[in-house]
Amino acid sequence: MRIAVLHFSHETVTFLQSDTTVDDFIYQGSPARGEALLQSAPRSYIGGFVKVAREFPDVELVGIESPLFPKRGTASGWITTEAFERFLGKMVAELKEQGPFDGVYLSLHGAMGVRGVAKPEAEIARRVRAVVGRKAFIVGTFDPHGNEDREFLEAADMAFCVKYFPHYDDYLQGERAARTLVRAIRGDYKPATVTIKVPIATPTVMQWTGASPWMYLVQRALTWEAREPDAYVNVFFSFPWSDVSDIGICVQAMTNGDATLAKRIGDDIAGFAWRKRADLVKAAKIQPMPEGVALARKAVAAGEVPVVLADHSDRSGAATWLIEQVIKQDPGKTLIATLADEEACARLASAKVGDAFDMAVGGRLDESAGEPVHIRGKVRHVIDSRSRRNGPGQRWIAVEFGRGNVVVLSPYLVQIIEVDTLRELGLDPDGFDIIAIKSRVHFRRGFEDNGFAKTIHLVEPVEPFLGTIRLDALPYRHVDLTQFYPYGNPTFP
Ligand SMILES: [Zn+2]
Repeated sequence: MRIAVLHFSHETVTFLQSDTTVDDFIYQGSPARGEALLQSAPRSYIGGFVKVAREFPDVELVGIESPLFPKRGTASGWITTEAFERFLGKMVAELKEQGPFDGVYLSLHGAMGVRGVAKPEAEIARRVRAVVGRKAFIVGTFDPHGNEDREFLEAADMAFCVKYFPHYDDYLQGERAARTLVRAIRGDYKPATVTIKVPIATPTVMQWTGASPWMYLVQRALTWEAREPDAYVNVFFSFPWSDVSDIGICVQAMTNGDATLAKRIGDDIAGFAWRKRADLVKAAKIQPMPEGVALARKAVAAGEVPVVLADHSDRSGAATWLIEQVIKQDPGKTLIATLADEEACARLASAKVGDAFDMAVGGRLDESAGEPVHIRGKVRHVIDSRSRRNGPGQRWIAVEFGRGNVVVLSPYLVQIIEVDTLRELGLDPDGFDIIAIKSRVHFRRGFEDNGFAKTIHLVEPVEPFLGTIRLDALPYRHVDLTQFYPYGNPTFP
């Protein structure tokens, strides 16, 4: 059994100014091929896939040269047509050269936005299909923020999407993809799938699956998988920061040859989501920045520390709205991790601990980033990046200022999602009353699920910039928001 493994994945914030280019996918370790690709993410989708596929002695895995996640993470906009064609073209050519294959595994995300290509994941599947033919089986794994519709499964056979947000189960979905693919190749699994779009659009900060109603939605999918042998359910929550035609909740159900059952399961999940729509769209309370910082001060006064302030809306990482309020309201003992400023990090390439610091940082990139803030203090840590996504010379700098505050400067948007990451950076998270981070939901794994934070507030700027929960303030060109609840009155089914 010969199985090709391909990876092409991005969560594209199309409203950001700077495109994602060929260069963003090229850095030490990327593109990756062969064993390097197969070992590129041992704890994630590919890791799970490879682990289980190799439990079958007659399986041969072929790692096709693939770009890994772009080096600016999610802090870059539209992928250029050139980048998409160049990498996909190479993958398809290599697939041809190294074929024939009995199966193909596509490690995808689902929220890739490419200039001039309407539904990139479906396009990838179509081009792969054209090479491997109808007899081969194609399986994809996805992030629940994927913007997907029926087109992917028209070209591919199977899809496995992560259920939880924070995404706890990517390895698990990779494992399932491998096992089901091998069974399909052996003739032991005949995928019968259904895809149902549910016209609900929600900002990602609402989609935390640690609380109802999103928790119930996941639970219902898990229940179907538990009670029906060989049934699988995907619920794509969708990613509204991509201006693409297939946003909105998408439900997929798959069974072993039973199309009626697949439809029954899909209808049940989709109907449940639709009935809960009023709760789904307002599952989280968001504070305007000044109120959020004021609430944090109150919590500090009441001893309810540490407080986590999560700026869920900052999509470039450079936004200064929160640090501006921290300076203005001066709660003290506040850690801001991080503020993205590529230029400042480059200029500080030779900075040493203890150096005086006097610089305007952050802001500038676009209106959502705000104005730079002037920080006077001293360099407390110089952090050489251990991430291979950041080339040599890309350092992070921690600067001490004011009454026990620290701001960490990074070249790109960084979502701090684990308290331990702060410790690895040489910071003592217990030494602060307030920890201000840029994250929507992912941080809950390291700050809430483990009981670390005593108080959590989600904040966004007063104005509805890119990243706001007020989606109707965004300049969509490919989406008619009135076709989605709660922005219009769509009917369902
Ligand atoms: Zn996601």
